[in-house]
Amino acid sequence: MRAECYYDDYDKKENLHFDSKVVHGALGCDPMTGALSFPIFQAATFKHREFDVSTGYLYSRLQNPTRQELERTMAILEEGYEAFAVSSGQAANMCVFGMLVDGDHVILSDDLYGGTYRIAEDIFRNLGIDFEYVDMSDMENLENAWKPNTRMVFLETPTNPMMRVSDMRKIAEFTHKNGGIFVVDNTFLTPYFQKPLTLGADIVVHSATKYISGHNDVIAGIIVIKDDTFSDHFHMQLKSRGNGLAPMDSWLLLRGLKTLSLRMERHNSNAKEVAEWLRKHPKVKKVYYAGFEDHKGYAISKSQSTGFGGMISFELDSHETLVNLMNNVKMILFAESLGGTETLVTYPLTQTHESIPADIREKLGINDRFVRISIGIEDVRDIIADLEQALG
Ligand SMILES: *Cc1c(COP(=O)(O)O)cnc(C)c1O
Repeated sequence: MRAECYYDDYDKKENLHFDSKVVHGALGCDPMTGALSFPIFQAATFKHREFDVSTGYLYSRLQNPTRQELERTMAILEEGYEAFAVSSGQAANMCVFGMLVDGDHVILSDDLYGGTYRIAEDIFRNLGIDFEYVDMSDMENLENAWKPNTRMVFLETPTNPMMRVSDMRKIAEFTHKNGGIFVVDNTFLTPYFQKPLTLGADIVVHSATKYISGHNDVIAGIIVIKDDTFSDHFHMQLKSRGNGLAPMDSWLLLRGLKTLSLRMERHNSNAKEVAEWLRKHPKVKKVYYAGFEDHKGYAISKSQSTGFGGMISFELDSHETLVNLMNNVKMILFAESLGGTETLVTYPLTQTHESIPADIREKLGINDRFVRISIGIEDVRDIIADLEQALG
């Protein structure tokens, strides 16, 4: 009989293709009972086999078998060494920034999720850490912002909500040459379309609330590391901050992940059609979508990603048109968030980017005519018909 637990031995499934890996996870089935749906271990604590001999599990704040199955699955999908599942995307970023110390300088995308900005400015700046926001779609900006005390580069690509694309290989090379840590928020494209760790990133973070879950029914975050350099750091963060993802929520992500490939394909093809349709609409002034061939980052996207995802932003001719759109959509829902099966329209000025200072927002183009849309997996004809009637 094996001395250790049933859950130790898992296969990295290196022989499988990505679409099969999402379905079969790390262990996939429960090795003890054969249950095809991985069990939800709704347990806080675990009985010891005998004095000083545990099952490998002690207490769920440290590790829980359901969470571990999710973490191993995410590590497989991102081609990383190890993953950590936490209670939100914000919690994931708290753990990442948790490695900074007084005197460090961090370079972040200037166009970035408002909550990440809030963590930097409202929590970590008070601890003596300096943050600088630059447009990294131009390498020169990153080079110019670098300081002797720069410790970390935090990138979103494509950015939220302006859809700028940055060259991850080049940023990784430059950051490492100068002794920094390169972190990529991969929420928008997921490992289905892009795997930053294979392009040189050290750490990937996700708001798993979005495409990883895919169903707008759970708040969760994921961190994946390339090698064991930061393994102890993240174990300590989960253990001390107590933000590990709950078993039920971990199971919801495992369930959502099974259809990740199918969902991402449909988000991608629907978004392409909607972006092209929006571009021709007389009330739409500008469309921000990484999949346009004349998008500044198109060639870079092609070199590092296999798709453009489901996110589009656009500017309307007036605030009145925007209010009409939000009030008149029927199937499409006016709500914040993204990455779920339902198409959502969002007003970044107040819903996702209110923390960003007005001058930065204005410079980026986040104004009262600016809309972000997360294209769902509905029939694209219904998405376009709804936009058409709501734009009037
Ligand atoms: C939503 C989001 C976050 C924050 O994640 P939560 O799960 O809401 O805490 C971080 N980064 C990006 C790009 C996001 O879209």
